Amino acid sequence: MSKNAELFERAQRSIPGGVNSPVRAFRSVGGTPRFLARAQGAYVWDADGKQYTDYVGSWGPAILGHAHPEVIEAVQRAAINGLSFGAPTEGEIEMAELLIELLPSIEMVRLVSSGTEATMSAIRLARGFTGRDAIVKFEGCYHGHADSLLVKAGSGLLTFGNPSSGGVPADFAKHTLVLDYNSIPALEECFATRGKDIACVIIEPVAGNMNLVRPSQEYMDRLRALCTEHGAVLIFDEVMTGFRVGLQGVQGLYKITPDLTTLGKIIGGGMPVGAFGGKREIMECIAPLGTVYQAGTLSGSPVAVAAGLATLKLIRQPGFYETLTARTSAFADGMAAAAAKHGLAFSAQAVGAMFGLYFSQDVPQSFADVMASDRERFNRFFHLMLDAGHYLAPSAFEAGFVSAAHSEADIAATLTAADAAFCAL
Ligand code: PLP
Repeated sequence: MSKNAELFERAQRSIPGGVNSPVRAFRSVGGTPRFLARAQGAYVWDADGKQYTDYVGSWGPAILGHAHPEVIEAVQRAAINGLSFGAPTEGEIEMAELLIELLPSIEMVRLVSSGTEATMSAIRLARGFTGRDAIVKFEGCYHGHADSLLVKAGSGLLTFGNPSSGGVPADFAKHTLVLDYNSIPALEECFATRGKDIACVIIEPVAGNMNLVRPSQEYMDRLRALCTEHGAVLIFDEVMTGFRVGLQGVQGLYKITPDLTTLGKIIGGGMPVGAFGGKREIMECIAPLGTVYQAGTLSGSPVAVAAGLATLKLIRQPGFYETLTARTSAFADGMAAAAAKHGLAFSAQAVGAMFGLYFSQDVPQSFADVMASDRERFNRFFHLMLDAGHYLAPSAFEAGFVSAAHSEADIAATLTAADAAFCAL
């Protein structure tokens, strides 16, 4: 029995499903999850010592590649001075100032320990600021696992949302309206009927949790206008896209100013961090200035902040995103070309350093399009790639990530393996 299989068997005896976050269990693709022992640059190694070129990057944080020496050094330097104080530190100010400098929509920001905390807190804040209860989210967008966000659409447009997880009271879910992503008519109808009740709209401004879906500029402009018109807080959940699609996030790409932004992943450089920030007027509603309570024992952890600052310093170097974006686009184009050679219904696209691979003829524009792709074929492709030493996200519904440590040769090797895998399909 392989060491991975042995560990998986052992893990399942003490950890539900053997994992501490469900997608790690490979349920969607089948087979045995790889237990990772170490990572360096573009590569990870599993418990059996097998090496993979990694396109998951810890689900987004590893934009510099794994264990970048400057990030590791920053962590070591911070750790020597103490792991956590529960008191303010200078590093937190530096991080806040840097986020404000890089993302012009952010006038004030608070640090938390995960993306989930960031979105949960931003929603509470929007509700406190507006005095309204209803929130709008979109089918296929994931914002972490707070109760009011684990909600799926009701039976028809504008019905109350239904819980999408056990343990979420229907009474909570009913305040969440779930709309089709990238549909202007759905937005307009929602605001026309419920506009005065809506505290906020939370959106992945480029969606990366239903594979990669890119909304139209027109849609995003309309969303901004409707929120302004109806006094609803527009929250861009850039936990995944922040510093991933470019230095100014999706808000920079689409030239839209959200009222609040949530961040995570990259700003922690691989350590647990999240953040939410935006308009001063809204942010001043948080305790201790205002009535909206929000707190955290480990918020602004000095070690995590050090990792984040070291990462942000490196990714803001001139040319960083140009090279990374070009490499990611070459990867997506190469995948599409290889599949086309074998006559497969397949498409691919990249936005910054994120990519989507789809077993469908055309690039999906909506959740329904993504759901119509050939999942079974993806699963076979995933395992062929994994066997060949290329680690893609273990689900047809996740975006992938390229890091600055992926060389042209790494990308070329993955494309060669993909060519063989497409042929075998
Ligand atoms: N928001 C988005 C867009 C995400 O992709 C995620 C996680 O993948 C979250 C929020 C939740 O972040 P975390 O897993 O750090 O709680």
